[in-house]
Amino acid sequence: METIDIAIIGGGPAGLTAALYSARARAKTIVFETALPGGQIITTDHVENYPAFPEGLSGAELGDLMYRQAERFGAEFRTFASVEKIEPSGLDFIVTDSEGAQVLAHAVILSTGAVPRRLGIPGEAEYTGRGVSWCATCDGALFRDKTVAVIGGGDAAVEEALFLTKFAAKVYVIHRRDELRATKCIQERCFENEKIELKWSRVPREVRGEGGKVTGVELTATNGDPDEFLPLDGIFIFVGVEPKSDLVKDLADLDGAGYVKVDHEGRTSYPGLYAAGDVTDSELKQVITAAAGGAASAFEALRYIDERLCSV
Ligand code: NAP
Repeated sequence: METIDIAIIGGGPAGLTAALYSARARAKTIVFETALPGGQIITTDHVENYPAFPEGLSGAELGDLMYRQAERFGAEFRTFASVEKIEPSGLDFIVTDSEGAQVLAHAVILSTGAVPRRLGIPGEAEYTGRGVSWCATCDGALFRDKTVAVIGGGDAAVEEALFLTKFAAKVYVIHRRDELRATKCIQERCFENEKIELKWSRVPREVRGEGGKVTGVELTATNGDPDEFLPLDGIFIFVGVEPKSDLVKDLADLDGAGYVKVDHEGRTSYPGLYAAGDVTDSELKQVITAAAGGAASAFEALRYIDERLCSV
């Protein structure tokens, strides 16, 4: 079995930045990524709040730049490699992927991020890929001149609604309260956009379809209005995310929502195991905070390995 310094699980901004710091310190570093490097931002059309890019850039471009920078310093990538297990072995960890390949790592950084939350209503699963989508960048162009709805009131929902106006004739934003959660500047753009109509105080109850295609959504009003059926061609769901922390749930402390508890240096409750980015219980979930968490956890993991090796 190959022995390495740091195994990084997840190749989003947190993992890629951790890889950059680790590889620059000449530590043997492998990043395991279930798809291509970049993480959740790959599906974001435009990132305008990452410093040094005044005009903004696409999430895919930003992910690719981070990937190339880490690779340039010698980080190794195992793409399309899903990690199945992280098991302690003495002071080290055995990391096993879905093909059964194993490495022995002196330290592990978990940067697996989060996955979109499901609504859990009838029709949602049945019509996924038939009008129900979790990715406006991937599927938006399929709805040219159509009527679509975005469900949710956070940054993701409102940004993706704005993106969808490039294609769709009409975009409803369906939110369960009477006030959006999204950042004010994104809200302003949403309110100014003539293609967007807000459906306030509405909770989706059922996705309806016919002939294998979405026809609309049943909405329950929470403000005393009558319930309604909203005819639609497509439904984009952005109601938050859930952390991908299963791999370490028996090793490290998680909070009530399943996020991995970390200190400011990215230490988890288990020695040698670090975590960074959206999988952690850090308050702010942004590309820049994920990157910062990746840097801090790599720095701390390197120090931990040095101290261990020096004390032998
Ligand atoms: P979020 O901020 O947690 O917002 C989720 C939205 O979905 C909320 O408006 C919530 O309503 C609604 N919601 C949750 N469960 C629901 C349900 N069962 N039925 C109907 N509505 C439901 O999630 P997010 O927008 O995916 O963002 C996740 C994190 O990434 C946030 O920290 C966000 O700031 C960050 N992010 C940042 C950017 C950016 O900076 N450009 C872009 C995307 C995401 P309530 O408001 O009533 O709770």
